[in-house]
Amino acid sequence: MKLVDILEKLSNARGVAGREEAVGALMKELLTPHVDEIREDKLGNIIGIKAGKKEAPKVMLAAHMDEIGLMVKNVTKGGFIQFTKIGGIDDRILIAQNVIIETAKRPIAGVIGSKPPHILKDEEKKKAIEERDLFIDIGASSKEETKEMGVRVGDPISFDIKFAKAGEDTVIGKAFDDRVGCAALVEIMRKLPQVDATVYAVGTIQEEVGLRGATIAAFQLCPDIGIALDVTVAGDVPGVKEVEAPIKLRKGPSLTVADRGLITHPKVLRLFIDAAEESKIPYQLETGLPGSTDAARISLTREGVPSGTISIPTRYIHSPAALLSLTDVENTINLAIAATKNIRKYF
Ligand SMILES: [Zn+2]
Repeated sequence: MKLVDILEKLSNARGVAGREEAVGALMKELLTPHVDEIREDKLGNIIGIKAGKKEAPKVMLAAHMDEIGLMVKNVTKGGFIQFTKIGGIDDRILIAQNVIIETAKRPIAGVIGSKPPHILKDEEKKKAIEERDLFIDIGASSKEETKEMGVRVGDPISFDIKFAKAGEDTVIGKAFDDRVGCAALVEIMRKLPQVDATVYAVGTIQEEVGLRGATIAAFQLCPDIGIALDVTVAGDVPGVKEVEAPIKLRKGPSLTVADRGLITHPKVLRLFIDAAEESKIPYQLETGLPGSTDAARISLTREGVPSGTISIPTRYIHSPAALLSLTDVENTINLAIAATKNIRKYF
């Protein structure tokens, strides 16, 4: 399967944080041909292992399988579904979105409803509608009817966006944060030759709600180095100042120097930069973003694990649809492979 097809499959799969089973099953299937061993831990992390030399360092590559979304909070008498957010979502992007509610019976399509503009007062038009004033319409006429359809409090809700090819090398889709990291992870394991290091390819759970899966995966695996493969904000769009978000599409993977949760270990940063320069892979350096990645938790495991993040520049992350360049993904894959091959020289 080609990278773009792997990404399409992963992007269309639904896996709001805490409900990653479908993505986990897909990751297991995609990783299995390229690893010596595959397993799932007690909370649902998927761990593929490529065994290296006994005395060589162990590297954990992590990409999170969960996506941001919503969760059923309450159903009104009239059958409208009120919800809470899972992960960081801006209320302004919720209105009029198509969604899928994952019930025990079947997935149900719905739309986030609102007052039509015709009947809005002028001051209402200027304000963003808050989460608590929004609701999902699934066409039910009563609370009882939603129950019969299978809807229960706590059911996960994901955005209903289908993967699409846009320009020459760009694609648009749901949950690129971090299914593109998952797709890169599969490709890294497929293309990686036998190296000295033992490589753990981990699809992690619940990153968006506090880097939880990576915490327990790193504890189990005791890696010597941790690398998160994730996305970062590409700010090369109208209205964003360069200083706010300097990372751009098609300029290569972004290497995080520091974010809110991690100051990248200098040896790891050196490993990345040397690998990129040796292999003539373009890269961008980034600092000052308020978020963080699985690498932050991996680094604080046990007595400490030197860690870093390689990010794919992505526009509109944490919204229903994002856009990225496949060339950036290829460069990210090649950089992670080049770095993994060189690990022994640094650790
Ligand atoms: Zn992410």
